[in-house]
Amino acid sequence: MLPLEQALAQMLEILPEPTLQNVELCSLTQAANRICAEDIISPINVPSFDNSAMDGYAVRLADLAKSPTLVVVGKSFAGNPFKQAWPALSAVRIMTGAMLPEGADAVVMQEETVLNEDGTVTFIAERIKLGQNIRKIGEDVKQGDVVLAKGALLNAISLPLLASLGISQVKTFPILKVAILSTGDELVPVGQPLHEGQIYDTNRFAVKLMLEKLNCEVLDFGILPDNEQEFEQAFIKAQQQADLVITSGGVSVGEADFTKTVLEKVGQINFWKIAMKPGKPFAFGKLENAWFCGLPGNPVSALATFYQLVQPVIAKLNGHSQWQAPQRFSAIAATKIKKVPGRLDFQRGFYQVNEKGVIEVQPIGFQGSHLFSSFVKSNCFIVLERERANVEAGETVTIEPFNHLMS
Ligand code: AMP
Ligand code: MG
Repeated sequence: MLPLEQALAQMLEILPEPTLQNVELCSLTQAANRICAEDIISPINVPSFDNSAMDGYAVRLADLAKSPTLVVVGKSFAGNPFKQAWPALSAVRIMTGAMLPEGADAVVMQEETVLNEDGTVTFIAERIKLGQNIRKIGEDVKQGDVVLAKGALLNAISLPLLASLGISQVKTFPILKVAILSTGDELVPVGQPLHEGQIYDTNRFAVKLMLEKLNCEVLDFGILPDNEQEFEQAFIKAQQQADLVITSGGVSVGEADFTKTVLEKVGQINFWKIAMKPGKPFAFGKLENAWFCGLPGNPVSALATFYQLVQPVIAKLNGHSQWQAPQRFSAIAATKIKKVPGRLDFQRGFYQVNEKGVIEVQPIGFQGSHLFSSFVKSNCFIVLERERANVEAGETVTIEPFNHLMS
């Protein structure tokens, strides 16, 4: 059995990043949730001109040194700058975001002034500093700066940034095509009645939802009966159309488990057993035209292995080099946690900050990999190291809050 870290390292080393040959030029709207395929260089300074951070008056300190009361000579509004000559001993009324008149070296906020009846303004601020309340040209972004790196996610923060720079199109990596199929004679799609010995197909639906969150195109190949020839035909067909094929079930050592045999026959298998719980059987390999991930059948194991192993695989194949693995934190076990040494264990848990401000966590229900309902009540994995045994209440453990895939 391969340790999880080794399996991950192996996969990430073998898997290629997408080539630059197939990048697609997208409008900002089309680019949403895709991965940026170029370093984006700012064509402009932001702000592109010195402007005011306050509603108030633009002044020259030299004028104020001579008199605290100045004539108001004109106005600068956002979008409507003050363009006239600026006589000595006068101030320009200015609004937030308005262009600074040439020669101004401070903006005094309105609250620190008194407007006199004769239309002049008296500055009552204790101290007026050179450059105060002025947003300088290029302070946010300088022309020529790399504002977004290749491999970044184009989302609700990065796309508006590009818009603010006047960039209307961006090169993106192609959307990954992922074929999904469930295996098992016992499986019935939701919406149909169950007969004796049958169960509903949970995994294909869960995997589809997570793939959609990862902005993949899902090719649904349905449910496969436990028949070697059918596996073979389906694998061959799926890999002709997809970049990645994800199956669930049939990857163990039972008599109806054909995933491994067929993968070896029509492709190649890199590994198929991982020292993690839930999820020991997990096959990784390659078909002629597509990569292959075989998830275990038990829904808890299927989700956990998808989350821990397939999520980084998709990030790599998508070109999402800025992807970050879910963060881990230390937490205090609120109750005893059962654990047998030997495998890295991902228990479903619920964490919260207690009244002392400390993060505490407790395992949710029974942890059997066939018990799916406990997932709904959990918000994190409790990550228990391979050699660890039972955990007593009060001990420190590692938790991994679910990211957007499962929350
Ligand atoms: P297998 O690895 O095919 O032996 O499956 C292990 C367990 O997971 C069995 O109890 C299966 O019935 C169950 N199982 C397999 N595939 C699914 C699925 N798509 N949805 C729900 N349960 C499944
Ligand atoms: Mg099966």
